[in-house]
Amino acid sequence: MSTRLLTKPVARRSGEVRLSGRILYLADDPGLVEAQLGGTDLAWDPSIPLRDNISTDEITPAYICYYFDETLGEFPYLGFKAGDRFPVTRGSVKAGGFVASVAGRRRGKGSSREQSPYAELCAGIQLVVGESIERIYRENCQNLGMLATTDFSVLERVKRGEAIPLSVFTAGEGRITQDIIEFGGLFPYNVARLQGKAVVPACATAPRPMTIAEKIFARHWVLDAAAGSVGVPAVQPGDEGFFRTDIRFSHEYVTPMAAIFFDELVGKEEPLNDPASIFFFRDHLTFLDQVMRPEHVEMGLLDVAAQLERTQREFAAAKGVRLYGQLEQRLNLTGALAAAGSEAICHSKILETHALPGQIIIGSDSHTPHAGAVGCVAFGVGTTAVFNSWITRDVRAQVPKSFKVIVHGRKPANVTAKDFMLQILRHPYVKDGHAIGQIIEYAGDAVEALSVDERATMTNMAAEVGAFTGIIAPDAKTADYLVAQRGMARGEAERLCAGLFSDPDAEYVKVIEIDAAGLKPMIALPGDPGNGLFIDELDAPVRIDIAYAGSCTAGKKEDMDMYARVFRNGLERGLRVAPGVTCFIQCGSREVFEYCRQEGHDRVFAEVGAVFVEPSCGACINAGPGVSRKPTDVTISAINRNFPGRSGPGQLYLASPYTVAASALAGRITAWEPETAPAGV
Ligand code: SF4
Repeated sequence: MSTRLLTKPVARRSGEVRLSGRILYLADDPGLVEAQLGGTDLAWDPSIPLRDNISTDEITPAYICYYFDETLGEFPYLGFKAGDRFPVTRGSVKAGGFVASVAGRRRGKGSSREQSPYAELCAGIQLVVGESIERIYRENCQNLGMLATTDFSVLERVKRGEAIPLSVFTAGEGRITQDIIEFGGLFPYNVARLQGKAVVPACATAPRPMTIAEKIFARHWVLDAAAGSVGVPAVQPGDEGFFRTDIRFSHEYVTPMAAIFFDELVGKEEPLNDPASIFFFRDHLTFLDQVMRPEHVEMGLLDVAAQLERTQREFAAAKGVRLYGQLEQRLNLTGALAAAGSEAICHSKILETHALPGQIIIGSDSHTPHAGAVGCVAFGVGTTAVFNSWITRDVRAQVPKSFKVIVHGRKPANVTAKDFMLQILRHPYVKDGHAIGQIIEYAGDAVEALSVDERATMTNMAAEVGAFTGIIAPDAKTADYLVAQRGMARGEAERLCAGLFSDPDAEYVKVIEIDAAGLKPMIALPGDPGNGLFIDELDAPVRIDIAYAGSCTAGKKEDMDMYARVFRNGLERGLRVAPGVTCFIQCGSREVFEYCRQEGHDRVFAEVGAVFVEPSCGACINAGPGVSRKPTDVTISAINRNFPGRSGPGQLYLASPYTVAASALAGRITAWEPETAPAGV
């Protein structure tokens, strides 16, 4: 493989860049955005509010990501909502001649999809500016050769057409990231690394007290990629290096674009590095044919989406990669064969079957931290990083700072890990963006009391925190899980968990303490997972149309136990899913589906009037049963995020499995009260 790469021309950019083009301010006021797209430059000053929290779902809504080539340049910001409008139309950014795009806090939050910065790049945007920028999005920009900064002073230089020193964008970054920026992206950098034109700095950190995550990073530090040697005595936040991965995975949204990069830049006949530790998943779009809007079908998007499945399947077969694929086909309403669910959602399967304590796992999805529930450092990366890891089997990272959330005390019976997370997400430290890019370590007796499934809800939602990853130190419960779930010998399970704890004097930039006894069932109001409220803080009753119980976050065995517990409780009182409400139950994997059958949960779901759907991502990504159809639809959902448009045009409230099931019975948002019928019934 290296022969072609060894002779590939690659060089650093000059020390300054000159950007020529207009600046697009993504303002709160839709009229201001429309005026800019219409050709009028905005004389912006800080009194004009910029939109915060622009997620990648807004930059490139899920249906846009069926494209995986330069066509994406037609679509950036199509889901961007300002006020009550969507001011950006197809092709308008590209036609506007913009070279820079400016937003408020937490730009690029949410999904790790690299299609978002790639769409911006293909529309002409070379510089993204935000008051704060989410880690994966920022890395994706750098990997693609785009420039990203929180320094608004560069905008004056762009306006004046002045040269901007590259150091503006490399300041504060580690040597590797600086080199990636200077070489114009991760792939050229890795080629330069292979050719000896870029040298990875050695880790010089002396032994020191470390967090569990730092210990895992130290064990995986790549000393010599060619010789396969790894491991240093210690690391500290800010150390930047390459880390040997134990597992790399991607799903059909990402694999095809990475496969194209690989075939074009490395070579179609070249093998992947250690394909046995790579997994592909067909999980996001198996039900797409059931829910795609007619206008999108007319645009040919169903065919475009079908290419994602086909490209991934063919690439997996050619490279010898295990593909967790779609389930058996069935006839749809038009008489054509259509898919019927997935073997597993990627995160569900990685935790159920593959992840081991102490590993480094990378996945093409922001919820990769899910596997942190058993003590892994698991984090999401973009397409370019996935593609590069197929060549090198390593991943670059800068060891993040850690912050700790200690949850102590005895939680009420109707409070779950999801409620813990909604409480954490409304904490000012998280809500104001201070946690972005940090590692969140969960600890405390209330966390230790949780099962591994419930712990996974917390590590999964490290993505909503904006954290690099979430991790929980493995303990006796982790060993029990490995024995029961994997059939592992106890001695082996205990050996894997040994030594994986944070040293008593390890450094945390922040410690947040939460009293579980003071918590009550929560919801997050539509628009953002950080909009948390105790249910009893709602001003008025909220009637619902849809109750969705599934996803990687809430499609685990214990989640199913929770739904079934509430529904059994309801059936004993003669209750069913309320009239006018449709309730969907969707497992994270076929294994969980079979578990529901063994436990009799499937019969409870049927009896109560819920629809038990085959495993898949589905409604969570606006691609399956359970999506809303109109803006007035109200959904209560156990998924992890409720950014505008993510699950359809309606209003989506986040809640725990107990609350979703209780609300399905009540027909309005309500907490589950274990000793009584759901309130209001
Ligand atoms: S269930 Fe939703 S959050 Fe989880 S991987 Fe699928 S799309 Fe992403």
